[in-house]
Amino acid sequence: MITDENYNLPLLPIRKAAKILEISVHTLRMYEKEGLIIPFKKESSHRLYSSSDIERLKCIRKAINESKISIAGIKTIYSMIPCFQILKCSQTDRENCKAYNEHAIPCWSYNHISNPCKGRECRSCRVYLDYSDCGSIKDFIKESFSK
Ligand code: SF4
Repeated sequence: MITDENYNLPLLPIRKAAKILEISVHTLRMYEKEGLIIPFKKESSHRLYSSSDIERLKCIRKAINESKISIAGIKTIYSMIPCFQILKCSQTDRENCKAYNEHAIPCWSYNHISNPCKGRECRSCRVYLDYSDCGSIKDFIKESFSK
């Protein structure tokens, strides 16, 4: 969960973020293209990253390097985040939502055209922000079962 008020501020340019993570700028761009990360975009189209993005990316790197999970696997894990439960979508909304009915990519990778997420900014959505790693997804599941 996010507590530090600076945690989500766009502070780091792409080269600096790549340096901290010890990866190339190309790899960072590829993660964005794959929908694993949504950086802040300036008008100049330059990307900026927050501390929470760095933590998310560390988790992605760990999943790839230590747990040997592929990028497709990570996308599938993200697709399991129960956004419909967190945002309390109606049954009709669920029926019209690809994110609810499919399981290959995160909800924020779809172009939502006919459900409540149409026009929403995923970058600041709590589904994107709060459930950035497998641990937090599992915590949500545990919490759901303890009710
Ligand atoms: S606003 Fe975006 S991140 Fe939030 S639930 Fe909708 S698609 Fe997912």
